Amino acid sequence: MADLPESHPRRSSLLARQKIVDGTKKGLLADSSMIAHGRGEAFDYLLGERTTDSAAMAIRHVATLLISAERPVISANGNTVVLAGESLIRVAAVVGCPIEVNLYYRTPERVFGLLSLLQEQRDSVAEEKGPSEFKGDWGKAVRSVRLLGDEADFRIEGLEGPRSLCTEDGIGLGDLILVPLEDGDRCEALISLGKQVCVIDLNPLSRTARTASVTIVDEVSRASISLLSEVLNPTKIEGEWDNDAALRDSLKHMSNSIDRL
Ligand code: ATP
Ligand code: MG
Repeated sequence: MADLPESHPRRSSLLARQKIVDGTKKGLLADSSMIAHGRGEAFDYLLGERTTDSAAMAIRHVATLLISAERPVISANGNTVVLAGESLIRVAAVVGCPIEVNLYYRTPERVFGLLSLLQEQRDSVAEEKGPSEFKGDWGKAVRSVRLLGDEADFRIEGLEGPRSLCTEDGIGLGDLILVPLEDGDRCEALISLGKQVCVIDLNPLSRTARTASVTIVDEVSRASISLLSEVLNPTKIEGEWDNDAALRDSLKHMSNSIDRL
């Protein structure tokens, strides 16, 4: 990608694809990750590759929930770590919550590889100057973000096999879980355990999007950058969150893309 001109109209999409290809070559991602990414890209194209107002509202709401939860956890799969790992580490540093590597197609090698990558990302983020709004020692806050997932000592009730495994100290006892790119079944299982589940999913019709407590219909790396601004400057949200209304709004944006012709 070294020869990709800055002005290329599909630059950020091509760079994201390359991250997925590189992650796959390194054995960090399951084979189906490219299919999941491609499905996401298609919806993002229809959205105009931008954060809609309703997605921005959802991000604001998730920021408030992350800050007010007792045991918030960010759960990350391979695509999330590769595309948005650094941004989510910044969010976790501000919120003071752990990040758990939790994979649908779980193998010890991939969990280990993704935890190593997150450690590298954490080291690099700790060296940054940190956001101006952050009060305190940025390096210390970043270094204290716990990275969980290697100890699968808890089973999510209602699921079978390796995809039911998680860490007790993370998702197991968490009351609010931010799970970008979650699978529909697991989202349902976590909800039925009484947890609040916030997801980032470009497909407003997926079971995940429809089951979650709050769905951010936006691209994971874009949404994670906005989420950082929101946890740094939280705004009070009035009233109940209407997730179906937010999903309908994003679908409307997609169908309105006919006006771009
Ligand atoms: P369901 O939730 O109905 O079970 P699924 O499990 O079949 O859906 P997956 O195969 O898990 O869906 O696909 C991954 C989901 O993540 C898709 O809905 C896709 O739109 C979304 N997605 C993929 N890449 C991104 C991305 N970069 N940002 C946000 N969402 C993404
Ligand atoms: Mg899904």
